Amino acid sequence: MNLEKLSSPILVTRAVLPSYQSYIDKIKQIWDTHWLTNQGALHQEFQNQLKNFFDFEHVTLCVNGHLALDLAIKALRLQGEVITTPFTFVSTTHALTMNNLRPVFCDIKPTDYTIDEDKVEALITPETSAILAVHVYGFPCAAEKLERIARKHNLKLIFDAAHVFGVEYNGRSIANYGDVSMFSFHATKVFNSIEGGALVYGNPELEKTLDLFKNFGIANAEQITEIGLNAKMNEFQAAMGLCNLEGFEKEIINRSHLADIYYDRLKQIPGIVLPKPSDKITKANFAYFPILVDESSYGITRDVLFEKLANYNIYARKYFYPLTCDCECYNGLYAGAELETARYTAQRILTLPIYGTLDPEIVIMICDIIQTNCILGRKM
Ligand SMILES: *Cc1c(COP(=O)(O)O)cnc(C)c1O
Repeated sequence: MNLEKLSSPILVTRAVLPSYQSYIDKIKQIWDTHWLTNQGALHQEFQNQLKNFFDFEHVTLCVNGHLALDLAIKALRLQGEVITTPFTFVSTTHALTMNNLRPVFCDIKPTDYTIDEDKVEALITPETSAILAVHVYGFPCAAEKLERIARKHNLKLIFDAAHVFGVEYNGRSIANYGDVSMFSFHATKVFNSIEGGALVYGNPELEKTLDLFKNFGIANAEQITEIGLNAKMNEFQAAMGLCNLEGFEKEIINRSHLADIYYDRLKQIPGIVLPKPSDKITKANFAYFPILVDESSYGITRDVLFEKLANYNIYARKYFYPLTCDCECYNGLYAGAELETARYTAQRILTLPIYGTLDPEIVIMICDIIQTNCILGRKM
């Protein structure tokens, strides 16, 4: 293939949009009713459809994923320390810190970059109240093992499920695990409601608490029973969610074809390490396509490969670098944490562009650029 700089940039993702007409049709009723937010009809319809989608009775919609996570932490009344992963989007760590909790960072596994369940128990202290794990890139954590640990030590278990919308594990929705799972519907995620998020959980008592917290703690016009916040999803978001839900299966199929191309072309390149997600995944969502660049056999570092791709107008992302615990705002507080695999991975990981409307030819081109830059590849 002739490798030439692309005339327009390719980013790591591109927001999924439904047809213009379907969105216009969906929001028409907002003009009929003048009901823009606060549990409107579209909110209700979206919530019902998600209950079907997850096959779960309890789904609470929120304005975004971060506040959904914040609400879950508040509603479970966590205290003290929470064992979590540093290999995630900063939202996960910020949500704990903003709630006066102390994150205790656990290392990750080299196979799928999720929290290393075998290292969790050693971090439990009398102060520990919960485990907050992340199904990173769409790869589920060892959910049953984490449930066993949480039960044994009487800890709450929250999953940051921002990346796993649509993923099934052991034949059922990944939302079946833990006390509560947070899904993000941000524009950059595999499924979006512009911005948005949802909590999925089994305990019916949580529903009332969450509904209170997300609406200022207002029980009724004269009774304010919690110090709540405003995290409500509005009708325009719900309308986008409803439209995008219709196209979701197609989005996943398109992504799976692109992932196949990446996989076939990258798997034999020396120094390009592909993730090995759990074999208990019964449905994947291809939310991200991460590769790990092992410079000792690839020949150049992740950072150099990143620049080489950028020279072609292709913008991969260094997700997740830096580790959240190493972010400036935490002032080196966690510098001493033993996070060998997480630190190794954060230095070498690169997520490649993947989204339903991405031209397969571009994927082939990206693979060719990666192949051409490999020292061993060049000798061939
Ligand atoms: C996107 C994301 C969030 C936050 O979700 P928003 O909807 O953007 O607020 C939290 N955790 C992870 C891992 C994410 O990727």
